[in-house]
Amino acid sequence: MFESDANAVRQQAYVNGQWLVAEDQREQTVVNPATGETLGTVPLLSGVQIEACIEAAERAFYRWREVPARERCARLLAWYEQIRAAREQLARILTLEQGKPYAEALGEIDYAASYIHWFAQPSLLDTGATLPFAEEPLSMMVISEPVGVCAAITPWNFPAAMITRKVAPALAAGCVMIVKPAPDTPFTALALAELAAEAGIPAGVLNIVTGDAQEVGERLTGSPTVRKLSFTGSTAVGRTLMAQCAPTLKRLSLELGGNAPFIVCADADIDAAVQGAMLAKFRNAGQTCVCANAIYVADEVYQAFAEKLVAQVKQLKLGRGDEEGVNIGPLINRAALQKVEGLLAAAVASGATVQCGGERWSERWFQPTVLTDATSAMQCVREEIFGPIAPLVRFTDEQDLLTQLRAQEAGLAAYVYSQNLEKIQRFARHLEVGMVGFNTGIISDAAVPFGGVKASGMGREGGRQGIEEYLETKYIKLNN
Ligand code: ADP
Repeated sequence: MFESDANAVRQQAYVNGQWLVAEDQREQTVVNPATGETLGTVPLLSGVQIEACIEAAERAFYRWREVPARERCARLLAWYEQIRAAREQLARILTLEQGKPYAEALGEIDYAASYIHWFAQPSLLDTGATLPFAEEPLSMMVISEPVGVCAAITPWNFPAAMITRKVAPALAAGCVMIVKPAPDTPFTALALAELAAEAGIPAGVLNIVTGDAQEVGERLTGSPTVRKLSFTGSTAVGRTLMAQCAPTLKRLSLELGGNAPFIVCADADIDAAVQGAMLAKFRNAGQTCVCANAIYVADEVYQAFAEKLVAQVKQLKLGRGDEEGVNIGPLINRAALQKVEGLLAAAVASGATVQCGGERWSERWFQPTVLTDATSAMQCVREEIFGPIAPLVRFTDEQDLLTQLRAQEAGLAAYVYSQNLEKIQRFARHLEVGMVGFNTGIISDAAVPFGGVKASGMGREGGRQGIEEYLETKYIKLNN
């Protein structure tokens, strides 16, 4: 169904307004995770080509920062309109290279576009001040300026949204951006860049580079010209990149691994909690950083919740993302499948019980699985699963649960189902995470600050906070 889109994808990098191949013709292949078939190739740019991109971006920065903010935002709005008009084709490309069901891919394209719409508000740049306690009126003022040339390194699980929520605030602020998309999913990024060019975003302002991740990462982080890195991906790579940015003291936004607890209290509306868990757990086959990881269920409602969840999970339809009515697509690659299998086997060996699923489905899918008798000591509870397994952990005391959760390294998101306001307030204050959803399984929105604490990283994307990541503060003392 989507084969004609595979023929239409751009297979070059996009640098300074030009479509580029590697100077030594080296390429890497991109495969469809649902079939293993090659979709196409992208160039492995050389270090010299990456350096040339950084230089071109710097030249573009000094021009772009002089474009009035209202005009920059107008270009962003034009880009938004282009994406809206091409949403179906973009979603097909996304499904082809990433595997998620087409309906979810369409949802992602709309979500990705919403960040551009949100950040195309010049009023978000109203950040300056005059200081009224200055000795003379108007002698002390504070202005915001763009940080400069920025780099983004993005993951494969949201090939569109992880890019727009970095690029849109950067460009609105007057920065320019070099994006290195995940090697598994570069075609969505390149399609977005093509639309940006059609929307009148000037050459050099948005660049998409493809190549060996480590080499490109070293060039971008090592360059003194690049003033900021925004990274979304694993905590391990985040740590490496942070260290690589230390010599040049770059600004950093890091959105790293999560391990979101999903807590069902004894007073929860169980049907609503089951619906929320289905969304928080099984979206993108469990491969999102805010996915619920372990589900902690109060002893009193454990059995009822487990039965209802299993009944719902059994309804999920597995298949290729381009097939009608599919809920669960393939995992991104074999390594992901093996990881999930390993976590499941270890949990079962330690006493967990498989209530449904528990096996591969063909060679690229893992069946959505519910595990009961899971405990906090199990690896699948302590670590991010990133797959469609729901371990149910029984709890009896909320205070003990909170204490135990505080020991977790990650601190991205949490979900709590309860109808008791006092309890909600307690969880809201004491969970050490960047985001908490109460009585909902979906929390993201372009208008709110997305991000985590502790090993889940630093900085926020979206909301008013999202643009501050791309602004520097300058104080001016003005005597005459
Ligand atoms: P995931 O486990 O989600 O694939 P990664 O952290 O491995 O997360 O990858 C996220 C992004 O980081 C991808 O674009 C990947 O190519 C990139 N990446 C991985 N390793 C490095 C590295 N050493 N330097 C720079 N980028 C890297």
